[in-house]
Amino acid sequence: LPAGTPAEQLPRYVRVNTLKTTVGDTVDYLKREGFSYLGQAVRLDNLTLKNKEFVLDLHLPEVLAFPPNTDFHDHFLYKAGHVILQDKASCLPAYLLHPPPGSHVIDACAAPGNKTSHLAAIMKNRGRLFAFDLDGKRLSTMSTLLLRAGVSCHQLANRDFLTVDPDDPQYKDVEYILLDPSCSGSGMVCLRDGSPTDQEEEKARLAALASFQLHCLNHSLRFPSLKRLVYSTCSIHSQENEEVVAACLQQNPNFRLVPLLAQWPERGLEPLSQCLRASTTKTLTHGFFVALLEKVSNARGIKE
Ligand code: SAM
Repeated sequence: LPAGTPAEQLPRYVRVNTLKTTVGDTVDYLKREGFSYLGQAVRLDNLTLKNKEFVLDLHLPEVLAFPPNTDFHDHFLYKAGHVILQDKASCLPAYLLHPPPGSHVIDACAAPGNKTSHLAAIMKNRGRLFAFDLDGKRLSTMSTLLLRAGVSCHQLANRDFLTVDPDDPQYKDVEYILLDPSCSGSGMVCLRDGSPTDQEEEKARLAALASFQLHCLNHSLRFPSLKRLVYSTCSIHSQENEEVVAACLQQNPNFRLVPLLAQWPERGLEPLSQCLRASTTKTLTHGFFVALLEKVSNARGIKE
């Protein structure tokens, strides 16, 4: 596909919600409705589909790909919460964090809750999922989404994550954090064709976003039991991605990057090749970035 592929040419992805159904039952339902299932993709170009064809994705276990412009908004499977309408790249963060059932997890900037529902599915609705968002309106959309998806292990709060106290005893067992903060959205294909913006204004906006993102990242690392954190944006700017992560690692030497999915076609910009990037051309998705940080354990078990 040519650079800057418009959204209308990207495959349409859905994530099967395993709290409500299985991939097998969803595939059978769609086949009965006249879709033709081509099995699991083995190469990226298997995701280029036509008519009513669909495939199981090659990288993510519960993601189905359809031809561009397939619309599920009025479909039973969506209305019943059996499938979540989510771009393939935005399924990476929860999948890579993979909190086990029973764990305590924070979704720091959670609304409208697609990634929260994915986390709950991975946790099999067991454990505690604390979800925060600053925007009340987005949170109410999120309540509807989570209800439809059958999520029950969550606790929603209309709060500024930066004011959540890491030393509050209710978060003492939080070992996993998903941080998907506000970003420029420059990876969202539909947002790219807007009118040209003032260069200086754009520079100031990016700097403010990057500073907010680093702030959130540093704040997250203060939760005392934290083991792993996933950071993601739907931005293509290194200023919001690799540069934020590099600055954070420099300020927090007790954390390191985990190398991600060797088979994924696009890496973070050097030297952060442990991270993943996504784009219309290399992964047939919207533009995206994801990094996984883990706490460095003291191998010799000596108290620091
Ligand atoms: N993770 C969400 C999903 O997958 O559906 C999308 C999150 S969106 C990229 C970023 C969210 O961060 C917005 O809903 C915004 O209201 C929220 N936000 C911005 N600043 C925040 C803050 N200081 N504390 C909590 N949430 C914040």
